Amino acid sequence: MSSFAIRHAAVFTVDPNNRVIPDGTVVVENGVITQVGDDREVTIPEGCEIIDGHGHALMPGLVDCHSHSSLMRGVTENMQLMDWLPWYQLEHRAMTEEFAYHSARLCYLEALQSGTTCVMDMFRYMDRCADAASELGLRVHLAPYVADRPGKDFFSTREENRQLIRSHHDSQSGRVKVWMGLEHLFYCTEDAYREAVQLSKEYGVGIHTHASEQKEEELAVTAEFGHRSLAVLDRYGILGERTLLAHCVWLNSEEIARVADTGTSIAHCPVSNAKLASGVAPVPEMLAAGINVGLGTDGPVCNNSLTLFEEMKFASLIQKASRLDATALPADQILRMATINGARALGIDREVGSLEVGKKADLLLLKLDRPNLTPYSVNEQGGNVLWNLVFAADRSNVVGVWVDGRRLIQDRESVLVNQQSVITEAQTQGLALHQACRDLSHTRIAMN
Ligand SMILES: [Zn+2]
Repeated sequence: MSSFAIRHAAVFTVDPNNRVIPDGTVVVENGVITQVGDDREVTIPEGCEIIDGHGHALMPGLVDCHSHSSLMRGVTENMQLMDWLPWYQLEHRAMTEEFAYHSARLCYLEALQSGTTCVMDMFRYMDRCADAASELGLRVHLAPYVADRPGKDFFSTREENRQLIRSHHDSQSGRVKVWMGLEHLFYCTEDAYREAVQLSKEYGVGIHTHASEQKEEELAVTAEFGHRSLAVLDRYGILGERTLLAHCVWLNSEEIARVADTGTSIAHCPVSNAKLASGVAPVPEMLAAGINVGLGTDGPVCNNSLTLFEEMKFASLIQKASRLDATALPADQILRMATINGARALGIDREVGSLEVGKKADLLLLKLDRPNLTPYSVNEQGGNVLWNLVFAADRSNVVGVWVDGRRLIQDRESVLVNQQSVITEAQTQGLALHQACRDLSHTRIAMN
């Protein structure tokens, strides 16, 4: 593989010291970052391709640590979580391998164009999602939507999850990882959770599930299990460093302490939590307790956007607004959540998530020279660019995305696939899926 250097960019390393290099250069050789520093201190290897980074910010690729691929967007609106779930189930009753493939391809394309280099996807027919990832080149963590309680046969089976680990874990040069995916306590038996713990140890894979998303859900769990969600998951042995819990909006202080003690990570999805009227997660308390918190979009069905730029801005604003505290979740903390914390949540922070020598080159190049980021000035504390990356930047600034040192987005277009054909096919498949859902609407069953 060839080497390249991005020179004279404002480099936001997101390393342990949050080092910012105003006139920075990053050298990548064979997919790995080999130098990061002030341009004057870097030695450009012979024959290295030079990319001019003047007027650009360079940062680690964003990590979406909780998503669900889908072709449904803007079709289940104005609903709270518990009203929304039965409609969402229709999509899964109608799901086919082909729909799943086009869902993943479309969502991964949108993610890449928004600067996301790694997606944790909980979805169906995930061997086809791996095919989509292979075409587009991004990093994906695949957690099948396993459900094994009676009446929940429209999701994935435990055997599918075991099979996917054997066939796809660590494939595509390590860019594809498979996780134990468990939908929720209402969908999975105790045995499924216990098996996940056992297989996690056996195969060295992570465990991903939803927890404590909405107040009514927490009350329903308590009514059914006699304990709150976190206590039930704890009793099943689920909590631990290999586990990533999505949402956790309704954790109390003892539960926050327990999540911290066990080293469990949380995927915070503030837009989805707001849209489904789930509430505002106590993220400052989680971070203060030492919990690793990453950001997730939760997919197009309940977001409806896959850009982490929106998620970053909203994550900060919703805390400021609800606490009447303008200092809550500042930009440097949010940038860490969207990059290195997400990588840690996925167990890959030694490989990606920051711009440091020896790490894989998952890079995001943003054009500053646009109306929404002008005027810009960068210093070693980041200058106004640090704040604008979180509060002003959007996908229109994304001009370059690399994964493993391979360029996947150039001037906002996919390098590897014909973008228009991905969109056109997803449009056809999406309308067909919507019709299939309507045809099944008589099967809709209300939750509880
Ligand atoms: Zn979710």
